[in-house]
Amino acid sequence: MSVETIPSGAPSPPVAETAPLLRRESIPDQLWRDWRWQFRNRITSLDELARWIRVAPEEVRGVRATQAESRMAVTPYYASLMDADDPNCPIRMQAIPREAEVHDSTAPTDDPLAEEEHRFVPGIVHRYPDRALLLVNDTCAVYCRHCMRRRLTFTSEAEINRDDVDQGVEYIAHTPAIRDVLLTGGDALSLSDERLLELLERLRRIPHLEIIRLSTRAPVTLPMRVSPELAKEVRGFAPVYMVTHFNHPAEVTAEAAEACAHFIDHGVPVLNQSVLLRGVNTSARLIHLLCMDLIRQRILPYYLHQGDLVKGSEHFRTPLSVGVSIMEELRGRIGGFAIPRLVVDLPGGGGKVPFGPDYEVRREGSAIVFRNFQGREFTYVEPPHGDAAVPFEEVYLRKRGMG
Ligand code: SF4
Repeated sequence: MSVETIPSGAPSPPVAETAPLLRRESIPDQLWRDWRWQFRNRITSLDELARWIRVAPEEVRGVRATQAESRMAVTPYYASLMDADDPNCPIRMQAIPREAEVHDSTAPTDDPLAEEEHRFVPGIVHRYPDRALLLVNDTCAVYCRHCMRRRLTFTSEAEINRDDVDQGVEYIAHTPAIRDVLLTGGDALSLSDERLLELLERLRRIPHLEIIRLSTRAPVTLPMRVSPELAKEVRGFAPVYMVTHFNHPAEVTAEAAEACAHFIDHGVPVLNQSVLLRGVNTSARLIHLLCMDLIRQRILPYYLHQGDLVKGSEHFRTPLSVGVSIMEELRGRIGGFAIPRLVVDLPGGGGKVPFGPDYEVRREGSAIVFRNFQGREFTYVEPPHGDAAVPFEEVYLRKRGMG
């Protein structure tokens, strides 16, 4: 099969400071909208990068310092969102390596959540009794520099193979406690439609499996990957949820919104997980804007993650207090359903725990004094009875066959 590339006539790398850069308009629409073209033409070198942006010295050093041990890939679409002149651009910071990745002496491990200990077969991470991760590949459209699973994604495109995935499906089929599976890796939408739908079909045949979630950053980095046809097919395996990963309002473009709308319109809810990234989104105004932009597109802000202690991304981490003060700013200024849960995934595999501002000020007998988002104090009085028994509970659970 012939591989179409950036059209001839485009400037050859490396470009001089004043040379015209490629822009979205430089590419014929038909190619631009073709996700396979986007994927084939991912930017993987400094020379290719220099066709889209004026590469800064720290980015040159970063790409050179990391190229031996981690891969870089950026779709032309994601590159087109970059500020061509400013290396502090949040898209550039998420996609282009910095030297700090190889000079990270604080974070001790590339497996901060101890997933390998719970990888009972190569395609499965099974940590919670009722849920499992099915690792479907190690391929992503863009390799995010903050990736917590970089031990898989940054190395080789063949780390997780078809046999691994097949064994993973078998593991789920033989583990009745698993009710909920998250297809991840890698990126669930790096699979072809055929492969994804085949996998969903096999999973749906497992009687005890109730919920299927697809983890994908495609709406953010490769939105043309999502078609109405695919969304409709995925809906056929409901309940299926899509979990995506917008970190900055600059990523909520018309194309990204359209990709999510395909899923939502066909009955596949879309949830968003963001991660706090120092210098990218660690600002209450930006997170506020991001949440508003997402809600406007009917995407539910779900988690706001504290950065994991993953080796190579220490430069992105912030103190816990930064997240807490962002949550302080959000409360009262945006609807509760638009506020993500601030969580830290405990190192060593302890699981996620929520944290955030404490609104309880003091207790005075049965009265509890809270402060609201404006700092004003209000008293809530406890009822005189202390129990919370539900007399009808046993009857109801028996009716559900759970007595
Ligand atoms: S898309 Fe997800 S799995 Fe892939 S590199 Fe980015 S954060 Fe990691």
